Amino acid sequence: MTAAKKVVTRPAAGAAAATANVRGRRRRRRASSRGVTTVTGTTQLIGIIGRPVAHSLSPAIHNAAFVALGLDMVYVPLPVRDEDVGAAVKGLAALGFRGANVTIPHKGAVLPYLDRVDGDAALAEAVNTIVIEDGELLGYNTDVEGVHDALVEVCGDSLRGTPGLLLGAGGAARATALALARMGLDLTVVNRTSAAAERLAALTSAAVPGAVCRWLPLEELTVALVAEQHLLVNATSLGMDGASKVPASLADTVTAGQVVVDVVYGRSETDLLAQARVGGATVVGGLEMLLRQAAAAFKLWTGRSAPLDVMRYAAKQE
Ligand code: NDP
Repeated sequence: MTAAKKVVTRPAAGAAAATANVRGRRRRRRASSRGVTTVTGTTQLIGIIGRPVAHSLSPAIHNAAFVALGLDMVYVPLPVRDEDVGAAVKGLAALGFRGANVTIPHKGAVLPYLDRVDGDAALAEAVNTIVIEDGELLGYNTDVEGVHDALVEVCGDSLRGTPGLLLGAGGAARATALALARMGLDLTVVNRTSAAAERLAALTSAAVPGAVCRWLPLEELTVALVAEQHLLVNATSLGMDGASKVPASLADTVTAGQVVVDVVYGRSETDLLAQARVGGATVVGGLEMLLRQAAAAFKLWTGRSAPLDVMRYAAKQE
């Protein structure tokens, strides 16, 4: 979707001004009830840079939160070509933006253009949130917190010391591996490209003291291995609209007692989660992770706790 923004013009003098003021107030009230914010000369700007970004739920989520908390801020999608990433990041500071989210495929590409990068972003080699403080560009990775918070909400501390299988070794998987290792899972990373799985297992073991993280190529994923797990996470793009399905050895083996997480989100539940739910497993969807990474980014930009229910409602209306 495109960002909903509304420009409020200054009213004319006298009676016409009074009428215009009333109309303006009504328009703003209608706008607020739809989660649409008004834009003035003092409005702080937040962007999302990626390619594509038109489908992103983040503008709806954040604009609804800004309206709910009465913040003079607006969130806009900014489609950016690969060759323009550096110019776009510098442009955020030049244009006085308060910050931005970064999404596929630029989460790694923005790193060289930032002044400082926090610990999780450096470990995950990916930035999903930029904060601009006194012209300085600061990079964060709130996806790690997003996975952690979504899982803790459902499972508490019950995953500690249990076996978990992470499918994928891309950006989402790197953030997920960090979160899971910190939660004390005994992890196995499985990926189509073996070298990426091996590297992620090594990075995760090095990043989290005491972490157990091994790896396997995707072709060695067996029904027996899946059945041994307490937690199963799809952190690949498999299962997205138009993409291939999650391997049957995983999706068909899920049973009650297991927890199944899918980072993929869409208008409806993914096939993996629908199948897992039928099998009696506990399921955690990508939307909950998305909302929690958004809440953490919101806190970084505004210093305020995010209105999670408002954000969830806005996402579900899209
Ligand atoms: P990347 O491109 O960084 O990684 C893609 C991963 O999917 C890699 O592990 C890749 O394996 C694997 N993969 C892709 N196609 C296939 C295939 N045909 N068979 C087997 N494996 C495949 O993408 P991201 O990690 O950034 O994003 C992955 C998904 O996570 C997307 O759907 C994205 O929308 C979602 N996401 C959700 C978030 C949330 O908050 N819910 C946050 C971030 C992302 P290989 O290494 O072999 O190429």
